[in-house]
Amino acid sequence: MPKTDDEKGYVDVVNGRYKPRGTFHVIEKNQPIFNKDTGKLAGVTNPRDMTYIHSYGGEAIFFESLGKGKLMASRCDNEKCDSKGSIFEPFRIYCPDCLRKAKPVDITEKARKTAKIHSFIITERSGAFNTLPKPIKFVNVEFDEEVVTILMSVLSVGEPEIGKKIIPIFRTKSPTYTIMDLMFVAEGTKESDLPDGFTF
Ligand SMILES: [Zn+2]
Repeated sequence: MPKTDDEKGYVDVVNGRYKPRGTFHVIEKNQPIFNKDTGKLAGVTNPRDMTYIHSYGGEAIFFESLGKGKLMASRCDNEKCDSKGSIFEPFRIYCPDCLRKAKPVDITEKARKTAKIHSFIITERSGAFNTLPKPIKFVNVEFDEEVVTILMSVLSVGEPEIGKKIIPIFRTKSPTYTIMDLMFVAEGTKESDLPDGFTF
């Protein structure tokens, strides 16, 4: 059953510290497990419901930007690094080659112009907690040669094909501030065909 607002945990940062409020652990009665053939006790269930506080740290800008319709990546600008000018998407806080802080860069336009399917997997059966419509079309997204990494995402509208041009879409209405705010659609998809809450 969905939780009421009183049963949810909330966190703010005040004076540089987490200030949790609400409920972070919901207690629920366990259930016995009986062997139907022998009538004997075999075990118990252990219901667990807890709210985990996940810190984004230096990646926060990436997740905050999705809800504003922007795709942020990061770039190594270190003159002494062999990877100088390399753009990382997924966003990396640090350059893996020189270990210096990488600079956040907006690649929304680059993604609109150059994103294409490098490879893909179609999943008919998913694990627990899946909220994506099935079959899920997972795509490995390739950008232009400045971007030296491949991004894993989901193709929401259209059929995947290697090399196909795709366009990013963003959950700008009621963002979740998670990777669920970013998906891709085939080039030429109409705005009216986007999933609820998403815009180009
Ligand atoms: Zn570097």
